[in-house]
Amino acid sequence: MINNIRNFAILAHIDHGKSTLADRMLEITKTIDKRKMKDQVLDRMDLERERGITIKLQPVTMEFDYKEAELPIGSSASSGKYMLNLIDTPGHVDFTYEVSRSLAAVEGAILLVDATQGIQAQTLANLYLAMEQNLTIVPVINKIDLPAADIKKTKNEIVNLLGCKDKEIISVSAKTGEGVEDVLSAVVERVPGPTSHTPPSPPLLRRGILRGLIFDSNYDEYKGVVAYVRIVDGSIKKGDKIFLMATGAKSEALDVGIFKPDYSSIGELKTGEIGYVITGFKEVGDCRVGDTITLAKYSSKINTTPPAAHRSAGQAGPSSSEEGDEKTTTVDLEPLAGYKEVKPMVFAGIFPKEGSDFKELREAMEKLKLSDSALTYEPEQSEALGFGFRCGFLGLLHLEIFQERLKREYNLDLIVTIPSVAYRVFFANNADIANMSEYGANLANGSECEGDYIIIRTPQKLPNPEKIKEIQEPWVKLDVITPKEYMGNILKLVQGKRGVYKNTEYLDADRVILHYEIPMAAILTDFYDKIKSVSSGYASINYEFLDYRAADVVKMDILVAEEPIEALALMVYRDDAFKRGKEIVKTLKETLPKQMFVLKLQAAIGGKIVAAERLSALRKDVTAKLYGGDVSRKRKLMEKQKKGKKKMMAAGKGSVDIPADTFVKILKR
Ligand code: GDP
Ligand code: MG
Repeated sequence: MINNIRNFAILAHIDHGKSTLADRMLEITKTIDKRKMKDQVLDRMDLERERGITIKLQPVTMEFDYKEAELPIGSSASSGKYMLNLIDTPGHVDFTYEVSRSLAAVEGAILLVDATQGIQAQTLANLYLAMEQNLTIVPVINKIDLPAADIKKTKNEIVNLLGCKDKEIISVSAKTGEGVEDVLSAVVERVPGPTSHTPPSPPLLRRGILRGLIFDSNYDEYKGVVAYVRIVDGSIKKGDKIFLMATGAKSEALDVGIFKPDYSSIGELKTGEIGYVITGFKEVGDCRVGDTITLAKYSSKINTTPPAAHRSAGQAGPSSSEEGDEKTTTVDLEPLAGYKEVKPMVFAGIFPKEGSDFKELREAMEKLKLSDSALTYEPEQSEALGFGFRCGFLGLLHLEIFQERLKREYNLDLIVTIPSVAYRVFFANNADIANMSEYGANLANGSECEGDYIIIRTPQKLPNPEKIKEIQEPWVKLDVITPKEYMGNILKLVQGKRGVYKNTEYLDADRVILHYEIPMAAILTDFYDKIKSVSSGYASINYEFLDYRAADVVKMDILVAEEPIEALALMVYRDDAFKRGKEIVKTLKETLPKQMFVLKLQAAIGGKIVAAERLSALRKDVTAKLYGGDVSRKRKLMEKQKKGKKKMMAAGKGSVDIPADTFVKILKR
């Protein structure tokens, strides 16, 4: 029964107790046998935990026996069994689009706030996304069992934010279970049951025609790509031929079911329900988050004009009135609104340390790509680094996770170049503009043509400076939430990174939201760590892409033993070049292992050295082990050592091993 379904998400900052709350819900609804209950049943990935971001929960369907409340807050519901579908939102800014799609699959969201911490920036950003989609927000304060819990202050903050009433906020301890049943009841009472999201057009023809929102997908080694769907209209059965409106991919629903939380086959998913479809697709790229799933037999009847164009038409559909016969009429089947192809924002080259590992790296990339549709990669060849890939990521965290997985799951030893944003390069002279597409093609990879500029994703591909009229870099809108006393520190930090202050909002008497605009490149560094350190850990940030703006940047080469190290080349602001150059060679001096010879470390711009350091030689005392006076043997060893030195010098760049984490260290100055 559609009236007895409630679909909801949880919005929470890391460690505010989302997993613990979900565990209690599973217990109360007896979704999982108490004996089988271990901690944090729904958590999906260790790596995310280690990185300090919230772990995305596995979706789950629970059956809740609701007893009508005497004095419900919000609209009342009648007693009975309810199907509660809990899905989750990732808790990091790299994944804002995915959050928005998850929220589009539900009607309500629990806003979970730790009573000892208050609300944090990322949660706030997600809360705004939820409000934009008109979701019903159920505010919940957690950890009331802790002595440090400040319930009154937290309530105040929430009231200010939501404009809700004090008594609408539910206080719980996810740990002890106190109050958790009230949260489930509130979900039943306050969150509306599922309704069709978009106006049906034309109403009679569209009735019963499947439209499902893919809000997540997962690659399973045995099952292939599993789509996580919210059925908006119609229903889907096992065996149905399916069609995805955005990618145009066709396949068959090999199985259909719900999350208990393991896959549980039920043969059919109906309007308003949330579950999974085993798609038969081989990679998640065919089955993108935000796409609309329908039946293959409607594939020719899809209206691909953006839904917004029809919105104002309301109930009245743009096409025919021959109701009932879909074969002779154009069925105006619109994809669900909001689909977007996410674009990578951060780029880095990834090369195997040993050239012979290239094949393994390629295989690992292909495998990881199966489950990560946001990842892009293309082969790249570099004189110094050999064969590898230029990869695109949603953000620095996405890159770090990917790199870590290559290492852990595939045991690969890698060189990762300094990550870079994508720059737009405009040419000065008409001949170059005319030849631009050719120029772009010649660049082969790491760049492409678009409009009247080329896009550069790696400093190596930057055209000759004389040819350039202007370079533009991406900017983001940055929000920082902080207790008032750290405002000064944060101001200083952000301004040092070229941030532009916009305005301040007060959350309550002592916490503020600072709004800035800042170059994305500034956030690529250890910005987050620095924000944390200048605010004793209290401030939190959120950002989103804004636009492209002119930037006076130049390419800086880093030379080791007088050889430019391609992986270390980076873009710097011209007026910052000397300072950055100095910092980098100094970091290198501290990072690189000593060699058998003195190592020159230099930073250069257009062939001109702007900073230099020397790393003194290591003198391996190979003779120390030899006791006694075997002079001839000693001499022989010394000779050998000399030869070794010469050989290394000759090999130049090849002989100096640059540790894989060097770029991180350089960036984190
Ligand atoms: P998540 O990151 O939001 O999923 O947070 P977790 O559910 O993993 O909880 C983070 C930490 O807070 C864990 O150590 C939990 O045991 C603890 N925790 C969660 N809820 C409560 C609570 O109500 N009271 C107390 N004292 N600790 C809690
Ligand atoms: Mg968790």
